[in-house]
Amino acid sequence: MSIPSSSWPAESGARAKRLADALSPTSLSLLQVVADEAARRGLPLYLVGGFVRDLLLGRPATDFDLVVEGDATALARALVARHGGDTILHNRFGTAQWLLPDTISPTGHSSLDLISARSETYKHPSALPTVRPGSLADDLRRRDFTVNTLALRLDGEYFGELRDDLGGLDDLQRGLVRVLHQRSFEDDPTRLFRLVRYEKRYDFEVAPETLALIPESLPWIKKLSAERLRHELDLILEEDNAAAMLKRLAELKILAEAHPALAVNLSIRRRVEKAMQVLPGERRAFGWMLWLMHLSRPALKEIESRLHFHANLRDALFAASRLYSSRDSFIGKKPGQYVAVLDDFPLDSVRAVYLAMLRGEARRTLHNYLETWRHVKPKTTGHTLKKLGLEPGPRYQRILHLLRDAWLDGEVTSEEEEKRLLEKLV
Ligand code: ATP
Repeated sequence: MSIPSSSWPAESGARAKRLADALSPTSLSLLQVVADEAARRGLPLYLVGGFVRDLLLGRPATDFDLVVEGDATALARALVARHGGDTILHNRFGTAQWLLPDTISPTGHSSLDLISARSETYKHPSALPTVRPGSLADDLRRRDFTVNTLALRLDGEYFGELRDDLGGLDDLQRGLVRVLHQRSFEDDPTRLFRLVRYEKRYDFEVAPETLALIPESLPWIKKLSAERLRHELDLILEEDNAAAMLKRLAELKILAEAHPALAVNLSIRRRVEKAMQVLPGERRAFGWMLWLMHLSRPALKEIESRLHFHANLRDALFAASRLYSSRDSFIGKKPGQYVAVLDDFPLDSVRAVYLAMLRGEARRTLHNYLETWRHVKPKTTGHTLKKLGLEPGPRYQRILHLLRDAWLDGEVTSEEEEKRLLEKLV
């Protein structure tokens, strides 16, 4: 369990130093500019949520959420008037985006979101909430877990003052994830997924009262739209600890409620862990493929009808499942035969199935394909065939494939040999 190294200092110099140490110089000076303007206009300004949580945990935090107690759009306009840039306003939610001028951020952030503190009420369980302007206290009360309700005030003399209305610091120090009220999961069942994400990301525990709410909250998951449900699973698959999170979601029966075919066992978890080997930007897609590739097409179709994957991912997923189920069919075949087959699969699906395989000839085949064979090309090109006087047409492709197969299968090992084969073929 990661416990914060110390609590937040009360003395203003020490607070400012902790903040300065945690932020890059560009972020710090940007926050200072906004804080000065907020102070001039008498608008309390706060850093809220994940940034504060991670700062107190001593973890690097990059994204920050700024909440204004009052009209964020007025603050954004004042910043543009003084420093330049532009604003995009979302009046319904009182959210403003300040498009930063080069003088403020020559290299760093390109824009900054300013959010008006708001209160939220839920008309129906799992619906999107009704939003009204509110105080910071209201804004903190609408949040998911106590550890996400900490705020640091930034304007004027308050710079760095910690606001802890709901016991967030205590829970952070004890390593507990706790909802703010009994109906929290009913209001928003995505919190069931977020709960597990924080629990396993920080190696925290779920507060007993919160854990006790889970069984009765499960039916609300059915109310979640495909997009919201998929988004939560996407976020989980991007985490280092995704496999442990899926295991926990299964234990708590959250996963089965999302869709009965979304199961995990030890071998699936081991596969999902392989997604750590790809680039961070690819993790989500590989996470899905590694998780679900053992499923049949009908099972995948059922999951697809609940989650509505984007077209690219859906195609890669179905292809990975097809390839995974036929992986042993390559054994004993010549390279020319399976390169032609593998070329028809999306490359990422081949990479995912390769990652899933632990050992054996089929794994070596995929390795050779990915590293070497897929790059093999004959020296002959369409251009060469044209020069030889051949009429362009489907025959070109056939000849080029035969030449490539000859290289792959070791029947041709030099340019001379390829030329001789070409003469025969033509
Ligand atoms: P992460 O490190 O996972 O990105 P974060 O805290 O920055 O954590 P975001 O999803 O960016 O998470 O949300 C920002 C803040 O908004 C959270 O800290 C939390 O206070 C609040 N929040 C996000 N989702 C919900 C939700 N479903 N219900 C209530 N509050 C939420």
